[in-house]
Amino acid sequence: MILALTGVGLLLVVMLIAVRIGINKEKVEEDGLKPVIHASGIYSIIRKSPRESISDYKPSQEEILKYFSNKNVNTTSLPLSEADKSKLMKQWNSQMEANIIEIEKGDERGVEFYYYKFLWTDPLCGKYISKGRFVTREELFQHPNIIPPFHLGCGCQLKQYQGKEKLHDTTEIGMLPLFREGAAPPLPDWKEILLT
Ligand SMILES: [Zn+2]
Repeated sequence: MILALTGVGLLLVVMLIAVRIGINKEKVEEDGLKPVIHASGIYSIIRKSPRESISDYKPSQEEILKYFSNKNVNTTSLPLSEADKSKLMKQWNSQMEANIIEIEKGDERGVEFYYYKFLWTDPLCGKYISKGRFVTREELFQHPNIIPPFHLGCGCQLKQYQGKEKLHDTTEIGMLPLFREGAAPPLPDWKEILLT
């Protein structure tokens, strides 16, 4: 009788250990699926290249080509030649790549702030974003639609900002947050065209 009870007891202990191992394993697997979160000050920065998700927020090559195929005038009603279309497509691709690479490089260095600058005069973006508006890495993660280019012919680019301690007193480029009360300003429609 005692032996039998001991046997049952042992069996229970073994079962409990097995269940615990199972739970821990599940927890580890679950944790493994989560993006890496680095706590830093008030921000919990999530570093994951926007390369994978950006296609959910930006038109594909096919969409742009389709848009071009029945468009012979741009938004200011000037003729849009095949050379213009080709240039716009190249600009779009190089701007997209430059912005993704900038964020990937920033992630390697742990950069928390980015600001917008313009490679050329861009009145379409100028209505919404001025040079030096900044966003946090987390905002870029939460809202990939704020990654330029914003429209065809867009000259806007994100740049890493290192000197975060100067954000409140900088006069150099008048840094202002892009987000106000948790919301970004409206951004141009990608179909708007800026010929340079
Ligand atoms: Zn633009």
